[in-house]
Amino acid sequence: MKTDDAAVTRETFDQVILPVYAPAQFIPVQGKGSRVWDQQGKEYVDFSGGIAVTALGHCHPAMVAALKTQGETLWHTSNVFTNEPVLRLARKLINATFADRVFFANSGGEANEAAFKLARHYAITRHSPCKTKIIAFHNAFHGRTLFTVSVGGLPKYSDGFGPKPADIVHVPFNDLDAVKAVIDDHTCAIVLEPIQGEGGITPATPAFLRGVRALCDKHQALLVMDEVQCGMGRSGKLFTYMHYGVQPDILTTAKALGGGFPISAMLTTENIASAMAVGIHGTTYGGNPLACAVAEAALDVINSPEVLAGINECHERFIQALQDINEKYQVFTQVRGMGLLLGAELAPRYQGRGRDFLHAAALEGLMILNAGPDVIRFAPSLVVTFADIDEGLARFEKAVVQVTGAA
Ligand SMILES: *Cc1c(COP(=O)(O)O)cnc(C)c1O
Repeated sequence: MKTDDAAVTRETFDQVILPVYAPAQFIPVQGKGSRVWDQQGKEYVDFSGGIAVTALGHCHPAMVAALKTQGETLWHTSNVFTNEPVLRLARKLINATFADRVFFANSGGEANEAAFKLARHYAITRHSPCKTKIIAFHNAFHGRTLFTVSVGGLPKYSDGFGPKPADIVHVPFNDLDAVKAVIDDHTCAIVLEPIQGEGGITPATPAFLRGVRALCDKHQALLVMDEVQCGMGRSGKLFTYMHYGVQPDILTTAKALGGGFPISAMLTTENIASAMAVGIHGTTYGGNPLACAVAEAALDVINSPEVLAGINECHERFIQALQDINEKYQVFTQVRGMGLLLGAELAPRYQGRGRDFLHAAALEGLMILNAGPDVIRFAPSLVVTFADIDEGLARFEKAVVQVTGAA
């Protein structure tokens, strides 16, 4: 049935969108900094950050300026022609990291698809055609393409789509002995998130990450770090690997890279990059001038000592306030995470009720996330103010009162 296409409501969603999401009942229409307004003009504090994407809040002036300027200059050329913003952004990412080469795409899943193909291709061409095993982890999330859901550690996302890419094994995260038990000279890569995001905000332990690096070196396997969610300042350093002193061979990032404009990047070394050649992989939109100009603006702001130091100050304030709330209501068993990627694991009596907290928070004017059914996730703007943290967590406390029935 074709109806009036001017007025759209939450009911419209149920009529027109492929039924793979269950969005909140309100529809955001405007954002500024850490605040969002819905169709009825109700105001929210945003600690969801569009799932760790809007790293500089909504409509940050530097990003709006970059978007407007590039939008009136040149949008798209394809990779048949290169462009200035992509070259500037690549150079800045290389200068800031271990990497020598960058491949740009449009989403985290696509960057990971490129990373896994690169790891396989490198091993097959430099070592042996049977060096194809990928070791990955339970509860890992790497995207929704068939290869990336298969490397991901949640079978519910990869089941039901026919034959899966082969030679991928999953072991428990932070369990070095489990990796030792499956790694061999046919292993081409170990793939991990330095902080598991969707899986529940679980940081790698330093000993685990160092051990994985050593095993990769011993078996000539590549260490692929998926920093799609935890990269670009989220952890309090530009990339999470920098906290550990453990270098990846391939790193992917996305989400915060464009601050809401779709873009992703895969970073690697000169040696590994040289396994590729013209035509072996590619994308139409990846590295387009519009996305790269916006990402360059985001990177310039995020990768400054003031902003990175501010993230760590906000971390302290957040953790302290969450612990204060927990002392009053005993809703969590643990508050964890790094920088401004925080997870609060629900106490046994509230497990499975993550969505109830999200719903109660929305009623109080607060946008938050869950990470699985048992963890409440906070991924606010990296430049959130103390005032917004305090207001948002005051609203969160009211939501906790609602759900727990505490007075
Ligand atoms: C979000 C996410 C992805 C997938 O990114 P998309 O842009 O949704 O394709 C991959 N890996 C991690 C760790 C993520 O958090």
